[in-house]
Amino acid sequence: MTGDRRPALLLDRDGVINVDTGYLHRIEDCRFVDGIFDLVGQFAARGFTVIIVTNQAGIGRGYFGEAEFATLMNWMRFEFLRHGITIAGVYHCPDHPTEGIGIYRRDNPWRKPGPGMFLQAAVDHGLDLARSWSIGDKASDIEAGRAAGVGTLVLFDPAAAAVGRIDDAWVVPRLADVSELLLAASAE
Ligand SMILES: [Mg+2]
Repeated sequence: MTGDRRPALLLDRDGVINVDTGYLHRIEDCRFVDGIFDLVGQFAARGFTVIIVTNQAGIGRGYFGEAEFATLMNWMRFEFLRHGITIAGVYHCPDHPTEGIGIYRRDNPWRKPGPGMFLQAAVDHGLDLARSWSIGDKASDIEAGRAAGVGTLVLFDPAAAAVGRIDDAWVVPRLADVSELLLAASAE
């Protein structure tokens, strides 16, 4: 029974949606990565559910709070809406196993490279992970997607020389390269 489950685009946030300036928590500091709205729009137009999965240990470290995170994400979701894109869900893990303060110092399977956020999103949104794509900028993003059973894993690495493969993952230097991979996959 997979017929009514939908594929998703599972996006890391820092370094994929916004330039990773380190523990981003203020709207005024947010700069979007070139091509992100075009790319996500192409997935949405093909019926992919769009989900954000993001480690946010800055909360656990005490650099900013849940309320600031929520305010930033509400604004970010609206920026996507202005481009015609609905973000169906945002999953974040505030914990850190060694640097978290108080209740935030704990191992949490939601924290990437754990697959917890992906698996919860799949339950909540009825996702077909095998037909889903994930895009991240760190090895931990790829590990998490792999552990969850995401079918297409993409590492966005602006320092990469060209589109290539590392094991079971694509490596792309530009987000626009993912569009071409999506087009090629759609033509199969
Ligand atoms: Mg990242």
